[in-house]
Amino acid sequence: MDHAEFARPVLIDGLWRTGESGRSRPVIDPATGQTLVVLDDASTNDARAAVRAARRAFDDGTWSAVSAQAERCAVLRRTADVLLRDRETIAEVETLDTGKTLAEARIDVADVVAVLRYYADLAERPGDRVVDVGDPAVLSRVVREPAGVCVAIAPWNYPLLQMSWKVAPALAAGCTTVLKPSEVTPLSTVLFARALQEAGAPAGVVNLVHGSGAEVGAALTADPDVDLVSFTGGAATGTTILQATAPLLTRVALELGGKNPHVVFADAAGPDRLDATVDRVLTGVFLHSGQVCSAGTRLIVEESVADRVVDEVVRRAEAIVLGPGLEPSSEAGPLVSTAHREAVQRYVDGAIAEGAVLRCGGEAPTDPRLVAGSFYRPTVLDRCDREMTVVREETFGPVLTVERFVDEAEALRLANDTRYGLAAGVAAADPSRAERMARGLRHGTVWVNDFGPYTPAAEWGGFGRSGHGRELGPSGLHEYQQLKHVWTHS
Ligand code: NAD
Repeated sequence: MDHAEFARPVLIDGLWRTGESGRSRPVIDPATGQTLVVLDDASTNDARAAVRAARRAFDDGTWSAVSAQAERCAVLRRTADVLLRDRETIAEVETLDTGKTLAEARIDVADVVAVLRYYADLAERPGDRVVDVGDPAVLSRVVREPAGVCVAIAPWNYPLLQMSWKVAPALAAGCTTVLKPSEVTPLSTVLFARALQEAGAPAGVVNLVHGSGAEVGAALTADPDVDLVSFTGGAATGTTILQATAPLLTRVALELGGKNPHVVFADAAGPDRLDATVDRVLTGVFLHSGQVCSAGTRLIVEESVADRVVDEVVRRAEAIVLGPGLEPSSEAGPLVSTAHREAVQRYVDGAIAEGAVLRCGGEAPTDPRLVAGSFYRPTVLDRCDREMTVVREETFGPVLTVERFVDEAEALRLANDTRYGLAAGVAAADPSRAERMARGLRHGTVWVNDFGPYTPAAEWGGFGRSGHGRELGPSGLHEYQQLKHVWTHS
C-alpha cells in the first residue's frame, strides 16, 4: 500500500491537506490487527471549510449550470476509467481496510464503475416534462435543478460502493459535495476522491473530511450551508441526523439497517432444487461475513423440509474457509474489528440464553493463523422465535437464525414482522405463490429464487425503519434534484 497517498487525507477546495484537529487514528487491518496507516482527523473547522468550499463551487454556477451537463457526465466517465485503470490497487486497499475478500472487493470496484457510467448516461437524457394546461399561449414545464451542497456520509461495510451511490448521482445532477467516510474504513474514499479530481472534478466540487461521526459528522449535518444530507448507516445514527437537521429543515435521505427474511418453501427444497436454494441462503447471509445491510439473516423455512434444509446449511457453513481477504483460498474474511466481534458474540450468547439451539459457529476460530484477526465462525441458530433479540435486531455478523412455518400466511406474517423493511428473499417453485409473496412482502427489494444481486438501474431503499428515499435508478438521481415549474406565457 502506498502510504504517501494517505499522508494528506483531507481535500478542501481542490487542495490535499492534513487534518487540523491535532488528532489522528490508526486504521487497522482486521485480518491481522496490524495498523495499516495512521490518518489525520479533520477538525470541525475543516468540516466548515469543506462545506464553504462546496457552497462557493455551487453558487459560482459553473458546475451546476444546465450547460455543464455534458462536462459533468464526462467527469463521471473519466472517473470510471481511472478506477478501472487502478482497480487492483483500490480493491487491495478495500480488502485490507474492511477485511472482505479480494474477490468481493473487485466486484465492489466493478460495481462502482457501473454506477458512475449509469448516472453519466441517465443524466444526459432530458429530464424535463411539458405539462399541457389547455392554453396554446402557455408553455408549462417542470424542470430539474440540482439540490445544492450535499453531504455524503457512508458506513464501513461498503465504503467505496456506498459512497459512489451518492457521489455519482449528486455530481450528475450538478450538486457539489462533502464526503465523510466511516472513520473505521476511510481509505478507499481517499482514492475515490483522487480519481474524481484526476478526472477533472473542479476545486470545491468534491471535498473530503475524516473523523468521528459525533464530531465531524455532527458538524457537517448541523451546517446551515448544507442543502442535503445523504446518509447510509445505522438506524440510531439516522435518528440523530434527523434531529440535527430538523432545526434547519435540511433535506435528508436515509439508507439504514435491515433484518431481512429469506423464506424457503418446501417446493424449493426438493432434490432438484435443494442445492441451489441452500447456496442462496449461504451467500445471502455469509457474504462479507454478514456485514451487509441486506443480509438474509432470518431463514424462515417450511416445517416439512426444515430439518433437511438446516442440516445442509450447517454442513456447508462449517466448510467455509476463513482467512485474510488477500489470500486466494479465503472464502470469508474477518469482522471489521474486535469490538464489533464482541457485539456479535453478545447477540449469539443472548440468543442461546433465550433458548435458541446453536448448530454451528458461535465463537471465534481457534486456528493460530487467525487469532490475531477479528474472525468469527459462520453461525446457525435453530429454533428461534419472534421474541428473541437476535431475531429482531441487526447483528451485522455471520449469524443465521431459523424460524419455521406451516403455511404461506404464516410465512408472510413472520417475514413482515420487523420494524425494518430493506430486503427479502423467497425460494419457491410455484410461480403464483412466489408472486403473491413478492407483492405481500413489505421490503424495498424482493429476490425470488435468488438473493443479493442488484443493478444500478433499479431503485434501492427501505420500507419502515430501513430509511427514507431511494438510491440507484432514476429515483437515486431525483434525490439530488429540485423540481421547478416554469410557466411561460407568450
Ligand atoms: P453508523 O451509523 O455507526 O455510521 C455510519 C456513518 O455515520 C459513519 O461515517 C459515522 O462516522 C457517521 N456518524 C456517526 N454518528 C454521526 C452523527 N452523529 N452525525 C453524523 N454522522 C455520524 O453505521 P456503521 O456501523 O458504519 O454501518 C453499519 C450500518 O449501516 C448498519 O446498520 C447497516 O445496515 C447500515 N447500512 C445500510 C445500507 C443500506 O443501503 N440501507 C448499506 C450499508 C450499511
